[in-house]
Amino acid sequence: QEDNFKNVISHAKEYGFIFPSSEIYDGLSAVYDYAQNGAELKKNIREYWWKSMVQMHENIVGIDAAIFMHPTTWKASGHVDAFNDPLIDNKDSKKRYRADVLIEDYAEKLNQKAQKEIDKAKERFGEAFDEGQFVTTNARVMEYKAKQREILERMARSLGNEDLADVKALIEELEIACPESGSRNWTEVRQFNLMFGTKLGASADSAMDLYLRPETAQGIFVNFLNVQKSGRMKIPFGIAQTGKAFRNEIVARQFIFRMREFEQMEMQFFVKPGEEMKWYDYWKETRLKWHLSLGLGKENYRFHDHEKLAHYANAAADIEFNFPFGFKELEGIHSRTDFDLKAHEQYSGKKLQYFDTEENRNYVPYVVETSVGLDRMFLAVFSNSLVEEALEDGLTRTVLRLPSVLAPTKAAILPLVKKDGLPEISRKIVDELKWDFNVAYDEKDAVGRRYRRQDALGTPFCITVDHQTIDDETVTIRHRDTMQQDRVKISELRAIIANDVSM
Ligand code: ATP
Repeated sequence: QEDNFKNVISHAKEYGFIFPSSEIYDGLSAVYDYAQNGAELKKNIREYWWKSMVQMHENIVGIDAAIFMHPTTWKASGHVDAFNDPLIDNKDSKKRYRADVLIEDYAEKLNQKAQKEIDKAKERFGEAFDEGQFVTTNARVMEYKAKQREILERMARSLGNEDLADVKALIEELEIACPESGSRNWTEVRQFNLMFGTKLGASADSAMDLYLRPETAQGIFVNFLNVQKSGRMKIPFGIAQTGKAFRNEIVARQFIFRMREFEQMEMQFFVKPGEEMKWYDYWKETRLKWHLSLGLGKENYRFHDHEKLAHYANAAADIEFNFPFGFKELEGIHSRTDFDLKAHEQYSGKKLQYFDTEENRNYVPYVVETSVGLDRMFLAVFSNSLVEEALEDGLTRTVLRLPSVLAPTKAAILPLVKKDGLPEISRKIVDELKWDFNVAYDEKDAVGRRYRRQDALGTPFCITVDHQTIDDETVTIRHRDTMQQDRVKISELRAIIANDVSM
């Protein structure tokens, strides 16, 4: 698994998807730049989300609010007082950890131990092995799994307490359960606010303290009534937004999984009080379907229902994805009640109420939110798509099996040789297709090597122009995943590509 993750990171760099930020200055920790192909892939994911949320829903509209917001916003939202991470320092290694992440890692270790037992049994009993039965009868697997569950439940409880002593006690106990991770010497657990502060204005005394937004959601809440009135929206309706958010994560790691500057794709759905659970269930299901539509494999997703709820929520679940380092949160679905709108009413002194014409009364709507990290989506899609494939002739090829709709380049046009007018015909095909698709032209190296390069970039189609093309206006079109090649008319290319790459 670890090797696989290293491959993901080096492939992302080698093929122009993601570079460490400011690399010539040795980089900046947990900050990354999206490169030429990464920016395309990221844009395509954003668009795929936007289309399915905004374009496909008559009652959802999209906005683009500013990153800077009035500082009182973050008082009202609770971020000034409650947006904290529990931190613990190791006195020996001088390393700092997020207590909840550390505990989850221990829980995952126990899960892996259980999985190892299952794998061993599979080897021993082969075909006839019944995993389900084994899991319920094998004492050791049961013990690991039960312990893993217990840990997560206890973590949820102890993080909810003001006094974080329980959290430290749990960590110390876990070291004993996982002796291979070595003994450690911990400080107390402390809370740390995650917001980045900055200043607005030049002169020192008149400057206003601001925060970079830690989530995009608040830009939607403060605009709720503006959008509702100007768009004549009727409840239930949604407001969607994508954009940068900033968190001073102490333990930023795992490549683009946890960064200090990242992008969110959020949608707040405003509903009648009392109907929030219906919509919460609806959005849980709808969002899972969206993920499944990309075809990365049903087995790679699972729900995690929260027991410990944030200060604003009455129900919350994560959609977790099987990343190269295990199942982790990809998206959150939260029933946020009327907490945010009521808080903004209180702090601003302005009414944020909806007039329901059917019921002839005013009320503050309840909110169900879906919030997915664009960078995490990128990592999910990218890591899942990267495969090393054994070929019939004993060779291997690296192929990035991206969903075609997300691929940065949809087709590469390749003249078989750099002469006899083949480059000119190829350029003509590029000029025709580029109005509809992002296409590439490549004439360097033998055609086999060019195919491999496009495989590694995730390009669904390679179109090769050869001498026969001069006679009959046909080309070969090669499919990335099957490597099958068909001879088709140039005039058919657009329809063939469109059929595969559209939503
Ligand atoms: P985590 O528990 O992993 O810190 P969270 O529960 O704080 O995440 P939310 O506040 O629910 O996350 O944010 C919604 C989504 O934004 C997450 O599901 C995730 O995809 C993304 N996200 C949050 N923090 C980061 C980050 N530091 N880097 C990249 N994506 C992030």
